[in-house]
Amino acid sequence: MNNVVQLRINRSEIEMFFHCKDCLDELPAGMAPREYIDLECGWTTKGFQVWCVRHNKNVIHMDFEGHKHPVVE
Ligand SMILES: [Zn+2]
Repeated sequence: MNNVVQLRINRSEIEMFFHCKDCLDELPAGMAPREYIDLECGWTTKGFQVWCVRHNKNVIHMDFEGHKHPVVE
């Protein structure tokens, strides 16, 4: 089994989440970040981007510097 197939297993293996700093700063008391944040994630012409819908701002845009990941080929 190669790495691409293994990543399609239906369980989260996330060890560190992307968050919008503004969303965390205004997180209502008693609410978990996953209940409040409103992020869109997707492929771009340069790589992968996480966008905060609530604040209409970039969280991170990873530039793959011309490399292609096998999952998007
Ligand atoms: Zn935000």
